[in-house]
Amino acid sequence: LFAPHRANAKGWDITHRPTQDAIDTGRNGFKTHQWRATPLPSSDPKNSNPTAQPVLNPANPDDTVGHITCATPKDATSAIARATPWAVPAQTRAALLRQIAHTFEDHAEEFFALLHREAGKTLLDAVGEVREAVDFLHFYAAEAEAQSPTPRGLWTCISPWNFPLAIFTGQIAAALAAGNAVLAKPADQTGLIAHRAVQLMHAAGVPHTALQLLPGGPDIGAALTSDARINGVAFTGSTATALKIRAAMADHCAPGTPLIAETGGLNAMIVDSTALPEHAVRDIVQSAFQSAGQRCSALRCLYVQEDIADTVTQMLKGAMDALHMGDPWHLSTDVGPVIDDAARVSIQSHIDTARAEGRLIHSLPAPATGTYVAPTVLRVNGIADIEREVFGPVLHIATYRAEDLDRIIDDINATGYGLTFGLHTRIDDRVQHIVDRIAAGNIYVNRNQIGAVVGSQPFGGEGLSGTGPKAGGPMYLPRFAHALDTPYRT
Ligand code: GLU
Repeated sequence: LFAPHRANAKGWDITHRPTQDAIDTGRNGFKTHQWRATPLPSSDPKNSNPTAQPVLNPANPDDTVGHITCATPKDATSAIARATPWAVPAQTRAALLRQIAHTFEDHAEEFFALLHREAGKTLLDAVGEVREAVDFLHFYAAEAEAQSPTPRGLWTCISPWNFPLAIFTGQIAAALAAGNAVLAKPADQTGLIAHRAVQLMHAAGVPHTALQLLPGGPDIGAALTSDARINGVAFTGSTATALKIRAAMADHCAPGTPLIAETGGLNAMIVDSTALPEHAVRDIVQSAFQSAGQRCSALRCLYVQEDIADTVTQMLKGAMDALHMGDPWHLSTDVGPVIDDAARVSIQSHIDTARAEGRLIHSLPAPATGTYVAPTVLRVNGIADIEREVFGPVLHIATYRAEDLDRIIDDINATGYGLTFGLHTRIDDRVQHIVDRIAAGNIYVNRNQIGAVVGSQPFGGEGLSGTGPKAGGPMYLPRFAHALDTPYRT
């Protein structure tokens, strides 16, 4: 599985090599290797940035996972020039995407290791993520067969570090399923996973001109979204970056060039006095703290009806005390590190401010090394008190009185975000009342509010949370294609 190889006709350094040290001292087969990623493929090696950046394990700064050589803006320009749409029948593309799905399954353990070491994912999250990537490949393969889409041309796909395999693969699979050429820019924190995924896609038979990997930071993102030859951009990340991309596309791309943006959220849950507290608390803990709160779907603001607020809060503290924080590779670990030290510092400063203001309800001790942030609950009067999306294991709690229900619905909508929303109640009419009024892409009733399932729960928000169409839903693939059945007739 980990045999070193060098396999690119262009001479690009695609190495995947075990180190001697690792062979001698590694604790298990998954944790012992060095990965290397470079732009894949690029036309002109002399453009390449010669400096390979080390990638550190967020749980253990002494563990260098591998090295990434970032693309340069010149690499991006050459990649745009050589990109060629994937001109084979939709059935052929679908068959190849299915083959990639099987390849990903065959390499699942390697992805688990990378998700763990590069992204700090727990094993539970890593398993879910590989599964989601595989689901996306099968789903868009089936959609391509059903729709026989006509490609728009060249798509830029910019993906986030929090789902470095699933979202990365989902965007690319949809763009390729429609027959486009793809320029893929992964988050700079997680280029190694992306690199391995693209290697496997190329090995399965996706042409190198149809899929090019350009690891790098904002300069590469800018180069790939401000060029008249780009026919569409799929982006998942922050709302602020999406707005920059939209502005760049407005300046440089043809009018009407589509942008699919899936962005942030300030997600709420309402728990009313008829809810079953044990059930609600389990779902609150999962929604707020699984994946160390690093999901755009994660619960940020919990509204509990005041009659049961003390019960829910006490149970929540007890459930939090049972969470285990530590090395994400251990099966006993519930909460791993956050992605990097910049994230840790930013989240921790939010907690420290609230603590200084006397709003800390509960927190846990965090490991001293690694970029850990303790799961924490803070008191707020309402969602309007939360000034930004805090992308970590931090839950804000407000209480409300029955007669204030419509006002808090208005407050939730007034944030301008609209990604996920959770509701715990045993009154059917109330479900209908609230669901009719909440503006959110994904609404979950009497369950947690994370982990949308490809195909059955298309995922995406409205307002500041994204443009749609929803990923993993029937409208997603058509956005990557030209509509042939245009209603306009002369
Ligand atoms: N699709 C994921 C979920 O439902 C969230 C995706 C994201 O965080 O960007 O939890």
